[in-house]
Amino acid sequence: MDWKMFIDGDWLEAESKETILVYNPADYSQTGTIPRGRGVDVDKAVLAAKRAFYSSAWRAVKPHERGWLLYDMAKKIREQKDELAMWETLDVGKPLKQSYADVEAAARYFEFYAGMADKILGETIPVEPGLVDFTVREPVGVTAHIIPWNYPLQIGARSCAASIAAGNTVVLKPAEDTPVTALMLAQFFDELGVEKGVVNVVTGYGHEAGAALSGHKDINHLTFTGSVEVGKMVMKAAAENIVPVTLELGGKSPNIVFADCDLEQAVEWVVRSITQNAGQTCSAGSRLLVEASIHDAFVERVKNKFEELTIAPGAQDPDIGPILTEKQFNRIISFIDIARNDAMVVTGGERYTSGECMNGFFLKPTLITNVDPTSRLAQEEIFGPVLTVFPFETEEEALELANGTEYGLVTGIWTQNISRAHRLADQIQSGQVFINNYGAGGGIQMPFGGYKQSGFGREKGIEALRNYTQLKNIAIKFQ
Ligand code: NAP
Ligand code: MG
Repeated sequence: MDWKMFIDGDWLEAESKETILVYNPADYSQTGTIPRGRGVDVDKAVLAAKRAFYSSAWRAVKPHERGWLLYDMAKKIREQKDELAMWETLDVGKPLKQSYADVEAAARYFEFYAGMADKILGETIPVEPGLVDFTVREPVGVTAHIIPWNYPLQIGARSCAASIAAGNTVVLKPAEDTPVTALMLAQFFDELGVEKGVVNVVTGYGHEAGAALSGHKDINHLTFTGSVEVGKMVMKAAAENIVPVTLELGGKSPNIVFADCDLEQAVEWVVRSITQNAGQTCSAGSRLLVEASIHDAFVERVKNKFEELTIAPGAQDPDIGPILTEKQFNRIISFIDIARNDAMVVTGGERYTSGECMNGFFLKPTLITNVDPTSRLAQEEIFGPVLTVFPFETEEEALELANGTEYGLVTGIWTQNISRAHRLADQIQSGQVFINNYGAGGGIQMPFGGYKQSGFGREKGIEALRNYTQLKNIAIKFQ
């Protein structure tokens, strides 16, 4: 399929007419092309979004009518769930059931923010007799959204839905590796007759289209989800124009397992949280901190589960699909090579090439023990199905390990001791803490974001609307 970009209500090629090939990571077959958008194409999209924002047509849309548009999007997403899931799996490689879960999450984001569109409230503030003071939460204008390749549909939906609910107009740039479902969202908006320029999707490379968008003087907010490295670049670019940013970056999230927990549940979630999307998840539970008294037995249970997991192209709905690219695969292998020298690879660590996995880059889920907590293995985001294990003796030690990286996105705590759970939750440095669960099935309503290098600002939930609104105070004197 040869896709076009959606700009100002039209489906366009890149000004240069150049295209980028899109591949299925399961076998490296080509699935289509996208336009190679660059600065000039981004200019068109931002200008269209700016015009739309100030147009009388968009201004005339009532808040609850914006809600209807978003509800209709949710409905369309559910109607087209098979096609969306299929494309998400073709693009990202993830198991089909995980793509279906992403489709449902995308629909839920649109519904959630549809309901919020007419509930963005201000306050009245008592100042003095004869003065009425109140605040209004206004949209910020043109919001830019740069999203990563691992959850394009969910992440595209969550920030665009919130932004449109608040009355903004948007320009979305998906990763060039996984552009299709973002374009399908644009298609749905188009079919629903959204005002020209309210929604724009520009495809292209990060260093071209992405860089042009993040440094554009006519955007009013930038939401970036991706790596720390690129996060710093886009923040610098936005700073030139005093454009506020929301940064959702990586993680090195721990599951902390105490001997008194429900071990069955803990094993299941520890495994799931590092193998979902082949570990290519910002909030992956990539570190297992386990009480020393159960270390060996727990590691054995995780090992057994890892070895039971099925590996195959995502379309066959296995437990684990391919790694997105050869480059990403080699990066993961370089971490495993470190482990072979400095730690212990308990299971996995090798490429899986059986049957239809021959041409993709599939990795057996990998369990690594005896890891030095200060090593790169313990500190850096590996972004694959690779779990590193650290024993601890005391609660204090667990906390020190948990907080002992530059990241702070998510933490899982597994214990039956409610006081201990609260004590830890209180001192954990991460944006989300889950006690006796991990991820709560996506949690559309729960604010999500990072401490430390995992970023700042919050997506999801009502909280995200702060990103997409600005506050105006109005004071009226009366006699
Ligand atoms: P990435 O390389 O940082 O790319 C993210 C996005 O930025 C892509 O659309 C990319 O475009 C674009 N980009 C690249 N260079 C750019 C530049 N110079 N200026 C502007 N944009 C640029 O990250 P990724 O490899 O796609 O995703 C993996 C990372 O995202 C991991 O660190 C993961 O933890 C993080 N992540 C975080 C969250 C969260 O919510 N906290 C969620 C998912 C992923 P191209 O790919 O087209 O070049
Ligand atoms: Mg990329």
